[in-house]
This record gives sequence, C-alpha cells and structure tokens, in this order.
Amino acid sequence: MSAASHDTTGLSTGHVETGAEEAPVALRGVGVGRGVAIGPALRMPDPIPEPRDEVSRRAPDEEAERARTALAATADELRTRGAVAGGTGGEILDALAMMADDPSLLADVESRAAAGATAEYAVHAAFGAFRDMLAGLGGYMGERAGDLDDVSRRVVARIMGLPTPGVPESDRPFVLVARDLAPADTAMLDLDQVLALVTSDGGPTSHTAILAREKGITAIVGVTGAEAIRAGELVLVDAALGLVTVHPDDATVSAARSREAARIAARSHAEGPGRLADGHAVPLLANIGSLESAREAVARGAEGVGLFRTEVLFLDAENAPSVADQQRQYREVFQLFPQRKVVVRVLDAGADKPLAFLTDQNEENPALGRRGLRALAAHEHVLRDQLTALAAAAAESEAEVQVMAPMVSTAGEAHYFRELAHEHGIATAGVMVEVPSCAILADHVAPKVDFMSIGTNDLTQYTFAADRLLGTVAGFQDPWHPAVLRLIQLVGRAGAENQVPVGICGEAAADPLLAVVLVGLGATSLSMSPSSIADVRAELALRTLDDARRLAALAVSAESAETARQAVIDATAASA
Ligand code: PEP
Ligand code: MG
Repeated sequence: MSAASHDTTGLSTGHVETGAEEAPVALRGVGVGRGVAIGPALRMPDPIPEPRDEVSRRAPDEEAERARTALAATADELRTRGAVAGGTGGEILDALAMMADDPSLLADVESRAAAGATAEYAVHAAFGAFRDMLAGLGGYMGERAGDLDDVSRRVVARIMGLPTPGVPESDRPFVLVARDLAPADTAMLDLDQVLALVTSDGGPTSHTAILAREKGITAIVGVTGAEAIRAGELVLVDAALGLVTVHPDDATVSAARSREAARIAARSHAEGPGRLADGHAVPLLANIGSLESAREAVARGAEGVGLFRTEVLFLDAENAPSVADQQRQYREVFQLFPQRKVVVRVLDAGADKPLAFLTDQNEENPALGRRGLRALAAHEHVLRDQLTALAAAAAESEAEVQVMAPMVSTAGEAHYFRELAHEHGIATAGVMVEVPSCAILADHVAPKVDFMSIGTNDLTQYTFAADRLLGTVAGFQDPWHPAVLRLIQLVGRAGAENQVPVGICGEAAADPLLAVVLVGLGATSLSMSPSSIADVRAELALRTLDDARRLAALAVSAESAETARQAVIDATAASA
C-alpha cells in the first residue's frame, strides 16, 4: 500500500462496522508488501458458461458478423482502457487488443462460422486452438496462452450479452476476492476502489503478486479458504502478517490500525540510503528493463541499479543489435545514474525470454537448455559486441557500470566471463547465482568474480524443479523456503570469506521481512522493483544486523516456507 495522501486502506475512515455477531475467521496466505486494509468483500463474477458446440440457427454470414462486431468492440475497449491505464498496465491491455484484432484468428473464426458454428462457439474454438498451440511452445509464448483465454472470454461475453468478466463495479471501495486475476484485470485495478486483493490461487511470484507489488496494492495471494468469503462480508487484510480476517472484531481492527499508522510513519521517516537500525549500510537498488523503468527507479529513490535486464530491450529483434544501437540505449540509461552503480546483466536469452538471434527454438526443454551465458558463449561475437557497447556507453557517462552474467552454473563459466569483461575494459564483473550448482560451489565461484548477485526467482525454480511460470506448481515458487535460504546462506558465507559483495536481485528482495532475512544470510545489497524500495527501507531501519542474523537462523532451520515465514513474523511481532 503506498503512502498516498488520500486514504486507500479503508482504515482511517473512522468507525468501521465490525459485524459483532459473527465470530472472526482467520485465513492465511502469502502477503505482498506490508500494507493493511479493511473493507467489504466483493467477489469476481462467476466465469461465463463455456459456449456449446451446436449448429447455429442463424445464417453463417450473420454469425460471422456477430463475431466480427464483438471482436472489434473488444479490441476498442481494451485499447481505450490501455490508454487510460498507461505504463505496464497499458502495454498489457494493448497486447490483448492486438489479439482481439488478429487477422489470422479472425479468419479462423469466420471459417468456423461459415461451417455452421455459432459466433460464440467459433470465437471460443478459434482462440482455444491458438491457445493450445502457444501453450505447447512453453516459456514466454506459453504464458501468453492465458491472455488469449482472457480475450476470448471478453468477446464471448459480449456476443452472449453477459456482463464483461472482470473486476466488479461498486459505489464504495471494496476488497476484491478472486480465485486469481487475469493480467488485464490486475493491470486495470482502480486503486481508489480496490482497497486490497485476496486470491485463493497464485504464489509470491505469480503475475498477480508481481503486478500488485508494482502498483503498490495490498494483497494476499494463495489464501486457503478464500473461496468461502461472501460478498459484503467485512474483511481485514494484513499483508505483513499474511492474514485475512473475516468479521474482524474491534480489537483486531484497532491493532491493525496502529500497525498501519506505525508503518506509514516508519516509511516517512526512513529516507535516504538503505541502512539497518545500527547503521549497517544495505544499498537499495532497482531492477529495470527499460528507460522508463530506469526513470521510475530514480523517482523512487533507488541508490542505483542492481539488475538491468538488457534482453528486454531486444525481445522483438530478429537479428543481434548493432554495437551503435546498443551503445545509444545503454547510454540513455547510464546517464540517469551519475556516480551511481549500474549492474548490467548481459543478454539473458532462453526459456521464457527467447531471442531470435541467440535461442535454439528446437530445444525440448528450454529452461534447461542452452540459455543465458551458455547461449552467449556459443555466440561469443554477440557477447563481445555487447561488452564493447557497454564499455563505450560507460565511458560516455559517469555511472559506475558493472556487468554480470546470467545462468552461470560452474566456476569455469564465472572465470570465462570475468576474463572476457576485463578484456573489454569493464573492471567489475560478476555472476548471477540462480542455478543451484553455482550456489553449492560458491566457495569456488567467489574467488573468480568481483561480485555475486543471487537471482532468487530462478534459484527457487531450479531448486524445486518447478516452472516459475506454471500456475499448477506456483506453490513451490516461494523463496522463503529453507531449501532456497540455505543455498543463499552458502553464497553469503563464500562472499564474506572472499570479500566479494553478494547482492540479491530476485523478487525475494522486494518482500520487506524476507529482505531482512537475506541481509542476515549475508546479502550486502538488495535490488527490487522500484515500487518496493520504500517498504523495504522502512523495515530494514527497524532491525539491527544481530536481529537480521537471528531471524535468518530461525528461517533456515524451519521445515517449510510457511513455517519459516511464520517463525520470522512471530519473532518480529514479539519484539514490536
Ligand atoms: C532471477 O532469476 O531471480 C532474476 C532476477 O532474473 P530474471 O527474473 O530476469 O530471470
Ligand atoms: Mg533469472
């Protein structure tokens, strides 16, 4: 929850009817951020019924026209909403509008209508076939499959004269309860209306959680029992505790009120560089992937950049970008950070982020394929060009540019990358630790690099052999798990023993309490989406290095992610 000037929590609006007759019910999930909110629940509407495969009684032309009109109107609506939303939300909505406008999909719909299908079935079947094809490709394309379902449902609802699926409208602010949210819904949430989000599906790195974090919405995902929350019931959402209380009593509400007031006060007092209560410095850096996000990082007080995802700039490129083109784009970013650290990740191609000029499209299992540094080493000229462009752009700015390699799995690869970077005149070169082998061998890797940066998203995915993009295994994607924390501990120790800095640049660093644990495990800097910096800064300011180490010890000795998180929440609540 952002410390907005107007109340967006429902907490400070005076008296709240706490519905004294019904006993409070506590439900647990994974909190996103530290916010607290209270309000009546509203549920996402029931999904629209699946159109039946039946022969139409209308003329084929008439069915085709119904489908065309609905597709065009849906594209228009998405585009208009995209223009209003702007930013990431706007981009997502524009991408959905393009799906509704897609000529090959329209041709498929028309041919199904010509064969006698109803308009709604023709749309449903054509989008479904395309969705299956994309899902079969896996990775980034596979992730777009869910977006097609989203567009298809909107078009079908329009044809059938049903309300548009999505966030309900209300004349007073509410807590939105859903199984999960489609990307378009999360992107478009009206922050003056939606006090908080509660979902029964999804993990801490689900699309919903990432967008909620980016937009500063109080959210708890993966809430067991959320299906039973009824519209109109009063719910208290406490993201810091990962706790949803249905029918909270007065005492619970006033305790939450004071905690939220303390949090907002802590945020407004905690300014400047990240540091612990004892003065121990923990630089707070930003994860960026574009010039726009770099500007946001500056606006949100980032002390520099801990992860510049350069592959994001070239996702649509057919051929490797020229040195001059790269140099120009990097320079624009570097110039925003004079005398600040900017850690650039060289192209991380593969799996969910294929690059046409680096990725082998025929791999059966791209997440385990020739990706990241492996792909760059196989196309060394691309890596050399990028290092040349980075060195030249660095020379044209006052940023302290460092480079790091993704998907490093051996000490040999680490050595190879540092040598190459030094050869190109970049003095500080490190590796991302996101493959378990690299963490296990951290004592051998550390002496070969200038720094290490732990990518907790992939480290978690590979530790659990659970695809980070796949909803059905989202429950494993939790960096609080001691299996992940113990790997991080190995890296922290190796870093300390070799005087090699250890950053964190996965989503884990954006979780304020986990950020404290990570510092306790040896992290020397934290990099995150810019919107999370204020809450992380405030939380760090409350804890000493001894506290952080004590909390880390509790977390690593727990048996599961849930018990690790709970042990730390309990320990911090006891000391509050
Ligand atoms: C990570 O894996 O944690 C990471 C920061 O890299 P990305 O999310 O870009 O794969
Ligand atoms: Mg990664």
